[in-house]
Amino acid sequence: MALYAAAAAVLAGVESRQGSIKGLVYSSGFQNVKQLYALVCETQRYSAVLDAVIASAGLLRAEKKLRPHLAKVLVYELLLGKGFQGRGGQWKPVLGRHQARLKAELARLKVHRGVSRNEDLLEVESRPGSASQVPRFVRVNTLKTCCDDVVDYFKRQGFSYQGRASSLDDLRALKGKHFLSDPLLPELLAFPAQTDLHEHPLYQAGHFILQDKASCLPAMLLAPPPGSHVIDACAAPGNKTSHLAALLKNQGKIFAFDLDAKRLASMATLLARAGVSCCELAEEDFLAVSPSDLRYRQVHYILLDPSCSGSGMLTRQLEEPGAGTPSKERLRALAGFQQRALCHALTFPSLQRLVYSTCSLCQEENEDVVRDALQQSPGAFRLVPVLPSWPHRGLSTFPGAEHCLRAAPETTLTGGFFIAVIERVEVPSPVSQAEALAPELTPSPAPKRKKRRRKAAAGASTSLGT
Ligand code: SAM
Repeated sequence: MALYAAAAAVLAGVESRQGSIKGLVYSSGFQNVKQLYALVCETQRYSAVLDAVIASAGLLRAEKKLRPHLAKVLVYELLLGKGFQGRGGQWKPVLGRHQARLKAELARLKVHRGVSRNEDLLEVESRPGSASQVPRFVRVNTLKTCCDDVVDYFKRQGFSYQGRASSLDDLRALKGKHFLSDPLLPELLAFPAQTDLHEHPLYQAGHFILQDKASCLPAMLLAPPPGSHVIDACAAPGNKTSHLAALLKNQGKIFAFDLDAKRLASMATLLARAGVSCCELAEEDFLAVSPSDLRYRQVHYILLDPSCSGSGMLTRQLEEPGAGTPSKERLRALAGFQQRALCHALTFPSLQRLVYSTCSLCQEENEDVVRDALQQSPGAFRLVPVLPSWPHRGLSTFPGAEHCLRAAPETTLTGGFFIAVIERVEVPSPVSQAEALAPELTPSPAPKRKKRRRKAAAGASTSLGT
């Protein structure tokens, strides 16, 4: 299939929700996927502008055989892209007939909106602070290397290191071959948004992981110390698992579950590349994992990052600006699973701290899930107030919801994300367990001891919040 026809078919598929741009490009059979992907993304970025120009030039009224998606691709190439460059087939002379009118309509649109450059015509979604402006974050894999070595490597490659960013504005201003350390996460480096590091030798060797900053927060906030036992309930493809392993320094154990065999296979590759040796992978439904299994008796930490609508995902926002709101039925099904998974996780007897996260923007998958799960075990767990200076908080739909974190390109220069840190209020002790079984045989717990436990928990929360 010719490039423009292939691009039009992908655009039509995206519009009718047959898949993402990336998925449809790969399944299109078109040989040069990079070229096709770039053309589709750019046409989509200028979609509203192209619609306006095509409509006011009366192109589709005049050319009845020209389908709207193909028209959009052709007009993009003619006015904003590289020109037809020997392509265009039967449509080249047709577009040629309309060229002057199309150009005039584009110029008129710019005058009307008071801008001089094509980029300034882009809708709000494509402007600074939007998904396309989010830096390319690089998490240094401390199992294999250290930040200084990675920084030096990039410097030797001609990148210019600007030190630690002091604010989001520093990250926003990144361009060219400059890069920075993130102000919050010590092992995170930030490069300009368009930097492509997928072919970088250090990435290929597992010395760094390409992971959005928001997606690094769950493991960082769970903060399991080396030696501890952790469950990663919905783990594939494993970015957060590898982060957990780095925090554990490969000491201790991660029990990682996922239902999807294919995703688990790529996870195994990712973990091997990242040098993770403390993880047990299992193709298992987390809901069927028994909390009373003795293997999990020392699990004090659980990361629950369940399947979600993905409405906050950067790729989705870039590909389908303004889209991504799932149907009510899908939301209900997802939220039902998320809630069952969270309630199940809270039944692990030794659990002390849990992080619940999604890359969804929907309240139903976030605050509502957390509220309902906490309500089901009243007084047993609480939300931990983390990162007080984080600017984007949970929606105030219930008391304490502001302890949750939200993330979005406009507010935190990251993908859309939600995180709740949940902690057990009373750590079960042999004394209280025995008391529960035979209250008449055991003395009351010493009040001093109880107080110390609470203090320790509060201390943990505070140290994370700085
Ligand atoms: N935490 C992962 C990471 O950072 O790379 C991403 C997890 S992804 C959002 C959700 C995962 O949950 C999917 O891989 C999906 O296969 C898995 N999943 C869905 N239902 C599950 C279940 N009942 N038990 C275990 N895993 C499940």
